[in-house]
Amino acid sequence: MSEITLRELSAIGVDRLKGVGDKKLASLHEVGVDTVLDLLTTYPRRWVDRTNECRVSDLVAGQEALVLVAVRSVSKRVGRNRRTLVEAVVGDGSGRFHVVFFNQPWREKQLREGAQVALFGKPEVYRGGLQMTNPIVDMIGDRTNRIVPIYPQSEKASLSTWEIAGWVEDALKRCEARGLADPLPSGARTRLGLIGRHQALRQIHLPETMGEKELARRRLAFDELLRVQTVLVMRKRALERDSLGIRHDIDGELVGRLRAALPYELTGAQRKAIAEIEVDLAGPHPMHRLLQGDVGSGKTLVAVSAMLTAVQGGHQGALMAPTEVLAEQHASGVRRLLAGVTVPDPGNLFGDRPLRVELLSNRVTGAERREVLAGIADGTVDIAIGTHALIQEGVQFHSLGVVVVDEQHRFGVEQRAALRAKGDGDVVPDVLVMTATPIPRTAAMTVYGDLDVSVLDELPPGRTPIVTKWANGPLMEQGAWATVREEVAAGRQAYVVCPLIEESEKLEVASAQETYERLHHDELKGLRIALLHGRMPSAEKEAVMDRFRVGEIDVLVATTVIEVGVDVPNATVMVIIDADRFGIAQLHQLRGRVGRGAHASTCWLVTQEVEGRNPRVEALVATTDGFELAEVDLDLRGEGTLMNTAQKGRSDLRLASLRRDRELVVLAREVAFEIVDPDPMLDDHPLLLDELRLLFTADDEAFLFKN
Ligand code: ADP
Ligand code: MG
Repeated sequence: MSEITLRELSAIGVDRLKGVGDKKLASLHEVGVDTVLDLLTTYPRRWVDRTNECRVSDLVAGQEALVLVAVRSVSKRVGRNRRTLVEAVVGDGSGRFHVVFFNQPWREKQLREGAQVALFGKPEVYRGGLQMTNPIVDMIGDRTNRIVPIYPQSEKASLSTWEIAGWVEDALKRCEARGLADPLPSGARTRLGLIGRHQALRQIHLPETMGEKELARRRLAFDELLRVQTVLVMRKRALERDSLGIRHDIDGELVGRLRAALPYELTGAQRKAIAEIEVDLAGPHPMHRLLQGDVGSGKTLVAVSAMLTAVQGGHQGALMAPTEVLAEQHASGVRRLLAGVTVPDPGNLFGDRPLRVELLSNRVTGAERREVLAGIADGTVDIAIGTHALIQEGVQFHSLGVVVVDEQHRFGVEQRAALRAKGDGDVVPDVLVMTATPIPRTAAMTVYGDLDVSVLDELPPGRTPIVTKWANGPLMEQGAWATVREEVAAGRQAYVVCPLIEESEKLEVASAQETYERLHHDELKGLRIALLHGRMPSAEKEAVMDRFRVGEIDVLVATTVIEVGVDVPNATVMVIIDADRFGIAQLHQLRGRVGRGAHASTCWLVTQEVEGRNPRVEALVATTDGFELAEVDLDLRGEGTLMNTAQKGRSDLRLASLRRDRELVVLAREVAFEIVDPDPMLDDHPLLLDELRLLFTADDEAFLFKN
């Protein structure tokens, strides 16, 4: 008989296992375990290593320890402040001690007299004896293995960890005769030093040593990542196969002329990114590339170079920004960069005409709008800049070649479909997505795994790095205002960013107003201060921004509206109030508004006075490298937040962690390419294909289910 597949396991109900009756069946169903596959992939939450356990007589006050004890007695009472207090006396042959739990009334029922429990905690001396307060409790029953797996147990569903362990053992025993099928090609397995799947499942549940458990985890986590990467790589290849792109002319003159006209040298990172993009553009398939780069790393130039490549072959470029304001800024930036560039025009007496860049925003109306639209349609507009409206509404391009999307978040599946429709016939334009919010490489591989990635990890030379300081409490905050006064006296300008109040924009505006009043009358008295917030009419907002830009305002007190791309090189100080209300990425974005000119810049992060550490603020003080910060962010927050934005299937990572398993993500992606490239429909990898079909949903992965 052949080896057992996951699909077979998923077809066997847990009711077939020893000891699962109707009541337990209902409980298991409640926690989402219906099949033997569900059960075997319910991995232990923790493993208690009994070889590390100590006897009660070995406990030392102040030192964390694991003890295995029996419950002697339990009692519950309501203490002061109406807090419930559960007290237990526990012990082994060598002695006994007290355990107390605050506000965990259910412990009374859990810790029945005579129960065997593993306790992990720090004993302290109390009334002459030892006492542990709120230790970690694992109910381990009478298991005698050296390493005891602790399963996520559900008090509500009344399932105990030893019951689950028992069923798991039973299920594993029944797999012994036939063995479990392993979808991983043996070459890759040997090369990566991974153990077999069957062994891994045995060892994750019943390890002899912690080392065995680690090897098992590594293999099973790899499987999860490989499935995700295989799907992503298949999707990437399918997109490439199914869509016809433009083979752009990368040897034309325009790009060379642009480069020659630049007053500076490209950074190495820019050169590399441009080269990667040109390889894509010259190829027969549409490009799908993410360009990651910190604020100020020079993404615009890379984007413009890509669009020019389209233009020099007689096509058009489009740049989409997330907001109207940003679109306008891009338009003026791109125009500045391309001033004086001409394109061939056979209809013209001199054989060429100036390259035409047009902005299509809501503010472009009437006859002007009609003219821009006509130019986009007849191809005389070479580069069109706007919001997403550019590709959604009735905008007809003559021949759209390259689309640059600034910020990826709002660019989803529908937009990609809209893009296809904008191409000429079946031809799909090349797409470059730019983001200034770096995400760690391995996370990018998973969340944006169907995109290629270029990285600008180098800032143009000559920038003075921003110095970031933490003002911990009101006393130190005075230092921030002193910096503002000094810089303004030296002819520079400053931003003051008011707290983010997620619950209410109204509150946010009120607090900004208050800050403005306070600074105006007190700390920054005598300076020219203005207020900017999201509830102001846009004309008023623009007026304020313009006055700040030309230097008529010294200090701009603003809510986070300034996050979206304000560019005033003369601004050299930023004070962020209640900085701990912001996330790392947002603080980093905000900070990028200063340090854009030749002068040294400072960013003050103001918080309420806190004792001890503030890891987020400290990370920003320690580095200005967005990629490093992205890694710290991932470490601090875990991948939860990241995975929320991802699609189904990717959240099916039970063991794998994008944070802990960075190395495995890279390896899984490599193996996925090795598998998919010679065998795009997985004809030679039926087991793997079957697992993907089993574990991913049909609507997400349509191409998997073709034929
Ligand atoms: P980003 O969009 O990545 O935040 P920009 O493209 O706006 O960065 O570039 C920031 C500034 O750096 C611009 O003023 C631009 O002219 C300048 N710049 C870009 N590339 C270089 C370079 N290689 N050397 C010097 N300055 C550069
Ligand atoms: Mg920019």
